[in-house]
Amino acid sequence: MNTANFYPGPSRVYSNVPEYIYEAYMQGVMSMNHRSPECMELVSETKMILREKLRIPAAYEIAFTSSATENWEIIAQSLTEKGSFHFYNGAFGQKWFGYADKITKAKGVKFDINDELPQEEVGEEFDVIALTHNETSTGTKVSAARMAQLRSDYPEHIITVDVTSSLGGERIDFDLADYWYASVQKCLGLPAGLGLMILSPAAMEKAYVLSEKGHYNSLVNILENTRHNQTQYTPNVLGIYLLNRTQRISKGIDAINKKLQQRITSYHALVNDLEGIEFLISNEKVRSQTVLTLKCDDPAALRAEAKDHEIILGAGYGDLKPHTFRIANFPAIKGREIDKLMTFLRKKFA
Ligand SMILES: *Cc1c(COP(=O)(O)O)cnc(C)c1O
Repeated sequence: MNTANFYPGPSRVYSNVPEYIYEAYMQGVMSMNHRSPECMELVSETKMILREKLRIPAAYEIAFTSSATENWEIIAQSLTEKGSFHFYNGAFGQKWFGYADKITKAKGVKFDINDELPQEEVGEEFDVIALTHNETSTGTKVSAARMAQLRSDYPEHIITVDVTSSLGGERIDFDLADYWYASVQKCLGLPAGLGLMILSPAAMEKAYVLSEKGHYNSLVNILENTRHNQTQYTPNVLGIYLLNRTQRISKGIDAINKKLQQRITSYHALVNDLEGIEFLISNEKVRSQTVLTLKCDDPAALRAEAKDHEIILGAGYGDLKPHTFRIANFPAIKGREIDKLMTFLRKKFA
């Protein structure tokens, strides 16, 4: 693959994925019965590897879903008793609010892309707080300090967090919330079609108290199954296998976090040097570490020219498309690919 792919999802997959797919075929993983001891062993081992590499606390449970999106409905149907309170500044957070609103009572508070989450009071009529840790559409993140403050302001609320484009790239302090979810085609560097959730003891307790059982993906069904290293439907076993193999050889989240921070520093230096290109997010405290959104005059022309140089840049998302483009800073991207991109940008905007 000569093309350097910087699309923030689906994104560049780890280079050893083809090798692992071949291995999975040879070992019969693709036809594995999901209730077999072999599959349960695979699931159990994968959860253990994730715990170790992503530093997930021992008391938290891990379960697989089909996508990140699926969690929007699971949270609304199985975890929300009174209502969910949504903070958002971009398309993914807004869509989540929209889905929740169809299923339960929901309130959305939109905030500016250069601001921290607002101090807006979450009333007693809401028991769930929803936020997007890394908003892929705008290239913003919620700082760890703000997350910590939210946790201490609302110790009794269930805090649910979309980490789709940061899990596997940024070090996350899981103690700061109750329900974290992601899918694998962003920071985890795998083909799409698998999601996961990471749950605190409080979230599990709440799920059992509510005991909502009207859906195939009711949270208590999911929890009962994952405790036996199973799923309530036939899961993407190949995806789980690829997650197992790629995470097993990962240097761990601290090393990855450091590598991505160094890369961010180089991108900052580059963008500061150049004319005609700047960060959409001027407030560095809320600028994403894993998805960079840049402003320029004609992003469509820039992306076309990059493509001729075998570089794929991400388009801006939604309303931002005419003025911005995006660069994924995901761990599967190679240093030499970044060099190639930087050389291209340097020539273009010198
Ligand atoms: C990509 C993305 C999603 C949707 O992921 P699916 O795997 O398509 O469900 C949700 N939230 C964020 C922040 C994303 O970047």
